[in-house]
This record gives sequence, structure tokens and C-alpha cells, in this order.
Amino acid sequence: MHSGKFTKIIATLGPASSSEKDIKELISAGVNFFRFNLKHADTAWHLEHIKKVRDVSGNLGISIGVIVDLQGPECVLHIPGSTELELKKDELLKIPADVFLSPPEVYSQLDPGDVLVVDDGKIEFVVDGKKEDLFLNVLSAGLLKSGKGVSFIKKKISVPTINEEEKEKIKEFLKVAPEFFALSFVRNHEDVENLSRFLTENDSSAGLISKIETQGAVDDLDLIVEKSDGVMVARGDLGVEVSLEKITYYQKKIIEKCRASAKPVIVATQMLESMTTNPSPTRAEVSDISNAVRDGADAVMLSGETAVGKYPVESVKFMHKIVSFNEKAFRVPPALEFSEDRTFSIVKAAVDIIRSDNGRSISKILVATETGKSARIFSSFRPEIPIIALTQNEDTLKKLGLSYGVLPHKIEFPEHGLVDVTEIAHELQKRGILSKGENIVVVHGKRWQDPGNTNSLYIFNVS
Ligand code: PEP
Repeated sequence: MHSGKFTKIIATLGPASSSEKDIKELISAGVNFFRFNLKHADTAWHLEHIKKVRDVSGNLGISIGVIVDLQGPECVLHIPGSTELELKKDELLKIPADVFLSPPEVYSQLDPGDVLVVDDGKIEFVVDGKKEDLFLNVLSAGLLKSGKGVSFIKKKISVPTINEEEKEKIKEFLKVAPEFFALSFVRNHEDVENLSRFLTENDSSAGLISKIETQGAVDDLDLIVEKSDGVMVARGDLGVEVSLEKITYYQKKIIEKCRASAKPVIVATQMLESMTTNPSPTRAEVSDISNAVRDGADAVMLSGETAVGKYPVESVKFMHKIVSFNEKAFRVPPALEFSEDRTFSIVKAAVDIIRSDNGRSISKILVATETGKSARIFSSFRPEIPIIALTQNEDTLKKLGLSYGVLPHKIEFPEHGLVDVTEIAHELQKRGILSKGENIVVVHGKRWQDPGNTNSLYIFNVS
């Protein structure tokens, strides 16, 4: 890890963190991925700032990933020409004049009496008026912020996974090759398949993160995990959609499922909420992050704390300190003790060797991987040393960065196609990844680009 930790930190970029200096400080504080939330700002803003992240991380020589967070089938409320609006109880807002909803497919499905919950439950409205002349009547007063998600109470709204407008946006973002697209409001595995098909049709190698924030997604979790490259426990909207007391229960279930499938899982939202305005976290927030590490999250995410908060860098520093301490203090048990999968058995044997060494001489794991599977299985065992994952596959390279403890590196395979660890160690020494004298555990197949045929495990001394 560039900063001596294994749990990955994701920071949402926004006006509070948008200068090159801010981005540099956030990376130095421990950020591994920046999230670009398309519910806020326009495409040009996001593209400009993705470029900034690429420039800054390139200059620092640190690999930093980009997650483009799509609205997907989520309904969002916007305020035309403004970022916020103070609301009084019983005030009437005309739609789509005073506020408007996206995607526009929602309008024809609104009926008087429908209840809308906005911004993770902070504001509530009831639809008023006649079908062709609708208003939102304010049920709970407060500060309405533009670009916040809307949940409908006891009403199903039918919208496509991604509408034509978002498809065009995605094509723009493909030009900057994000590591991941995150899909909001996944309702079932078909949503994941739809986005996945669209990305494949457009020659994208980006990974797909499913945000679990609806009851439908919780009910269809097995297939969603199978079809995704990563999963996010999106606790903000999940807390509205399934009701608050169930959040921790579902968080643990989702993490458990992802770990058993060796898929990376992110815990998101309100992890350091109080730091949006205060310079230090509450004890409960520290406990929340510690528990996410203890449960086996691969990554933890900051939203408003870094996007619009007063203390973005301090938030990342606190998060870094909390995850670093807890990943050493707890021994997270392996998700699976046994599997009939051969790669699993080889990785498990390697992990046993590392555990019996107990930090005395083995300093790193080196794994050659085409699909990323062997590196992700290593990660699921939570070894206490870094996992250097070598691949020449661009898709794999992009996706592995999210997994706990994994440092992906691209390597060109030699013409003979055989994995020769002496040659590789030489190259990695030149890149400053390995040092002379280190003992490493090596796992690979005989040939490069030969998925499913991992067959070698040994200890190698870098000379
Ligand atoms: C959430 O709802 O917890 C979440 C991460 O999504 P967003 O920030 O896009 O509302």
C-alpha cells in the first residue's frame, strides 16, 4: 500500500477537494480511489477533475483509481439554478419549475398522495395537485440540497437501468478509462447485466460496482455479487429503503457474502459524518470504521466529508489511522475454510506457510494472475503482508486495486510465455517493488494467460 495500510480508502471528490493541492494532500493522507458522483455537477466538471487526479497521481508515481458513480435507476431531485433551498412545512413547490426530478420517466408515474423521501430521509414531501399540474407539499421542514436521491414510500417507479442520456454520459467517461463504474439503486441482477452488457458493447474494461441500497438488491444478493466486480453497502439510501434498524444486519450479511465469493466490498456513508463540520470524529464513528475492518470490508468510503466538508484531509487521516490500527489489532478469520477449487487450496497452503513464518522472514506475496481470482482469494484470507498481483490483463489490473491488501502491477510477458520468477524479480527490483534479500511467497501457473491453471507455490529469495 502506498501508505502502509491494507484497507482501501475511497474519497468522493467535490468542491471542498477539487484543487490539485487538495487532491495531492488527500492522496498523501491515504486515498486509493476517488469517487465521482454524477448526481452532482456536470460531465465537464467530472472529466476535468478526473484528469486532475490522473495528472497528480502520475506526478506522484502512485496508482490511484477512479470510480464513476452512475445515477442508474435512482430518482434524484434537483433545484434549478441553485444548490440548496430552505423549506418550510406545508410549502408547495411546483414541479418541474421550482424543483425537478430525474430521470424524466418518473413524471408520468407520479400520483397525488405519493410520499417522497429525500436525502437519506432528511426531507419528506407528499405529491399534491392534479396529474398534469403537480406540486410537492413539504411534510418536514429543513434544508433541501440539490442532487439528492429520492425514495418513494410504498410505490414502485419503473425506469430503465440506464436511460439514453446516461448512456451518452457513460460514453464520455469511457474516454478517461475509469477503473470502475458504480451503479446506484440496483434493483436486481438484471440491472447489473444491463450495465455490464452496455460496457462490453462499448469495449470498456472498467469494473462494475453494485450499490446495494434497495430491498430488491438485498433479496437478489447472490446473483448480484456473482455478476459484479465489487459491491458497495450504500447505507444512506439503504437506511431509507429497508428501514434503519436493519442496516447493520444487512451490512454484515453483504460483507459475509462478498468475502465468501472473494469479491471486494465497500462500506459507505456517514463513516465520519460529524467531520463534515468538526475537526475530529465521534467515538461512535471511530467504532463504525473499526467494525467495518473487523467485519472484513475491503474498502471504506467518504462522501460529503471529502466532497463538501470543512475537513477533507483530516477525515482521510483519521480514517487511515483507524483502519491501520484495526487491521493489525484484529485477525479477520478466513471467509471460507474449505473449497474444492484448486486455486483456493494452493492459496490456502501459501497462507499457512506465511502464518507459520509469523512475520519472521517472508515479507510479500507475489501472485501471477490473468483473471485476478487467485489474488482475490489471497485477499479473502487477510494475510498480514502485501499481495503483489502481476498481470498483463488491463481489466484485471483495474479491478484488483479495490481488494484488501492487493497491489496490482502490469507486467509484459516474455515471448516464451512461461512464468520465470527470476526474470520477474529482477524487473520488480528495478521498479522498486522488491528489494535484494527479501523472501517472498510465489504463486502462479506454468504459463502466463492461462486462467484456472495455478499450479506452483514456493518461497523465493530475491537476489
Ligand atoms: C448511499 O446512499 O449510501 C450512497 C453511497 O449513495 P449516494 O452517495 O450516491 O447517495
